[in-house]
Amino acid sequence: MSSLHPALFLDRDGVIIENRADYVRHWEDVTFFPQALAALAQVRHTPYKVIVVTNQSAVGRGLMTMETAEALNERIVEVVRQRDGRIDASYICPDAPGQETGCRKPLPGMLLQAAHDHHLDLSQSIMVGDALTDVQAGRAAGVRVAALVLTGRGRAQAAKPEAITLTPFPIYSDLEAAITDLITGMD
Ligand SMILES: [Mg+2]
Repeated sequence: MSSLHPALFLDRDGVIIENRADYVRHWEDVTFFPQALAALAQVRHTPYKVIVVTNQSAVGRGLMTMETAEALNERIVEVVRQRDGRIDASYICPDAPGQETGCRKPLPGMLLQAAHDHHLDLSQSIMVGDALTDVQAGRAAGVRVAALVLTGRGRAQAAKPEAITLTPFPIYSDLEAAITDLITGMD
């Protein structure tokens, strides 16, 4: 009997909520994508553990405290729950570029930590993000599929020259399309 769970790893900004050029630092900065809330409600009754893995370099840059970052994240998780969704755990990497301790995507530290904490089967897991670094982090962790969504920074990221040099990865219009194709629409 296997006691390992598959995970749906999700980037937060640009996937669940809108990106902000000057970082999400206040509750007023949080704007949910309605399709993402609907998608998270779809995943609720699947075996997938839903794990948010988010870089929050505003902490490392001294623009926001880790406590504020965690409080904002908890409120986001609560709204998802109120809308019949489920986020089982969240990991926040506070590092600014150049401060890397191993958690900042494209490094896989948050995914590996989550796999350890929640008994995840990475080879059966999925990563969805709006940046190439999300795809790279998922691959570095050994997930089954790492996909890009075109919300948030996704469209600009998909057009970057580096996108062509990466092994092809699936691209979806948004989180709902990704989840429908990769998880809930399969049966
Ligand atoms: Mg993002």
